[in-house]
Amino acid sequence: MLSSRYRPWHVPIFLGKYAWLRARKRPVLLNFEVTMRCNARCGFCDYWKTPADTRDTEIAEFAAIAKEFSPMLITFTGGEPTLRRDLEQIVAAVRKSVRYTYVQLITHGGMLSIDRAQSLWDAGVDQFNISLDYLDDRHDNARGIPGLAEKILALVPRMRDVGIGGVRFNTVIKRDNLDQLIPIAERAAELGGGVNFSLYTDFKNGNREHLVEHAQHAQLEQVIRELLAFKQQRRGVITNSDYYLEQIPRYVRGEMTEPCQSGRTTIHIDPQGHVRRCPDFAPDGPWQSYRGYQPIDCNACYYACRGEAQAPLRLMSRIRDVMA
Ligand code: SF4
Ligand code: SF4
Repeated sequence: MLSSRYRPWHVPIFLGKYAWLRARKRPVLLNFEVTMRCNARCGFCDYWKTPADTRDTEIAEFAAIAKEFSPMLITFTGGEPTLRRDLEQIVAAVRKSVRYTYVQLITHGGMLSIDRAQSLWDAGVDQFNISLDYLDDRHDNARGIPGLAEKILALVPRMRDVGIGGVRFNTVIKRDNLDQLIPIAERAAELGGGVNFSLYTDFKNGNREHLVEHAQHAQLEQVIRELLAFKQQRRGVITNSDYYLEQIPRYVRGEMTEPCQSGRTTIHIDPQGHVRRCPDFAPDGPWQSYRGYQPIDCNACYYACRGEAQAPLRLMSRIRDVMA
């Protein structure tokens, strides 16, 4: 699912850029972690404990990094990126520094008013990825933000009404939301948006409460089959590759042994401008020191970004997804 800013003729341009970056062994996706601060209170992530005064060390010069790498995709993430008052300026500068890059913003949505969404869209955000793990107040409780699910579900149609044509839910697959995955995909379709699923990991802060349990394996396999069937019927709503979804049960059963390819096609730049291979590894040094990452024997997560990096290029399937 592409933002409404793009037309089908953009697809070959982006595919060409992808091939050019891969041939040069350069990252395709840059994740700019513009702040580690966050005002949610998630039990499975400690970013919200980041001291407020780290604000003073957060860089604004992401455009120079974007220019150097010229990636196909850029994601603004955090922490909670909308806490940065200069986010629009950063986005606009990054946008100006790279041709043919698709800009996404990951947010919990708690501070996303229609005006803020509009100003970020005008600055150059192509797609808003709003976290949504449940359609009801379980989401509010998990994030520690009262009324959050209702707010998000009311905001998305308003965004569409003012012409913001790129909204996607980011949904983490957890022990207690297997019943929500199909309803979230259906709601995303109704709202004219999309949804991307990623499997929960306890690697962030050791919280095992949300890990899918052994007794749920059959239920998980069934819901994955339903998601794949949904994808077949309504291309363009679920944005994961078939491969990623198919591999989730195998990972949960402990059968995945392939090394992790993180850092090869995607890298993370932290708020101080340091580079790291994935969001849960420590930074390795200033971004200028990046020389590529080798596959690593780590099996701590099966985030969508890890799974998609491992996915074989089933070209027709992915083209059908993108064109939809
Ligand atoms: S998971 Fe996201 S919303 Fe929750 S504390 Fe971490 S950064 Fe904030
Ligand atoms: S499996 Fe890969 S993406 Fe996941 S924590 Fe380990 S290195 Fe990072």
